[in-house]
Amino acid sequence: MSQALLLRTTFAVFLTGAFFVAKPQLEPPKLDISKVKDNLYVIEGDGGNTGVFVTSEGVILTDVKFPRDVEVILEKVKSVTDQKVRYVYNTHHHGDHSGGNEKLLAQGVEIVLHENARRNIIEKKQPGAPRIAFADRSELWLGGKQVQARYFGRGHTNGDAVIYYPELKTLQTGDMFVRQAPIIDYSSGGSAIEWTKTLDQVLALDFETVIPGHGPVSTKADLIKFRKDLETLRDRMSALTKKYTKPEEATAQLKLEDFGWTVNPAILKRFEGLYNEMRQR
Ligand SMILES: [Zn+2]
Repeated sequence: MSQALLLRTTFAVFLTGAFFVAKPQLEPPKLDISKVKDNLYVIEGDGGNTGVFVTSEGVILTDVKFPRDVEVILEKVKSVTDQKVRYVYNTHHHGDHSGGNEKLLAQGVEIVLHENARRNIIEKKQPGAPRIAFADRSELWLGGKQVQARYFGRGHTNGDAVIYYPELKTLQTGDMFVRQAPIIDYSSGGSAIEWTKTLDQVLALDFETVIPGHGPVSTKADLIKFRKDLETLRDRMSALTKKYTKPEEATAQLKLEDFGWTVNPAILKRFEGLYNEMRQR
């Protein structure tokens, strides 16, 4: 294998795996739990944000980070309630959100997710496929309280659920909304064109507070800005497809500084998929 090919291969593995697969780590992960609203907490650090909804009949978690995080997640839950974790929602299949599934299923916890996310777990040969999947909407009722999972269409992947805590006017979006550059996972049915349409339906829900997939607890206004930035990003790439015939040339000219995202070569490389989507439009 030539040096150039070897480099390219290594880079490709990095690109496809880096966001969703845990890197080896010796220390136990450092996670922090904080209160969002009454009976709702968020655990931040190492992987996607974990929602902790406490009721008098048990706890509902949303997203469970990587396998190595499960014990620490359960310790953090114990620091705010004596109730046991009964259910988990996965917002989507990526390993930084569903990695804890296998260990929790083994403890008798039921995990619920969108049917496309379950199919992605199976097709990508990830461990921890949940037993319960839904098509458009799921409701969990526990201790007289309700949590909904809603599906509005494609975006970050083809199986992103939005978790809705109606009484708290709070949403948990998974990676449909992040406080960083959006990742359109084309290998899992993601679409920038569909993403804003999906978010328009999400924005019709009655909410004020949003727990993003990654980043700090945010407001509805932050989500509206993210949607607008996504549209601007798409329009800029669309214009570049008319000037450049190669995705890497277009990506090199893509203006990103004004969005406030951290941009690295892996993120830029991912936007080549956006070039292809916008060119085929
Ligand atoms: Zn993701």
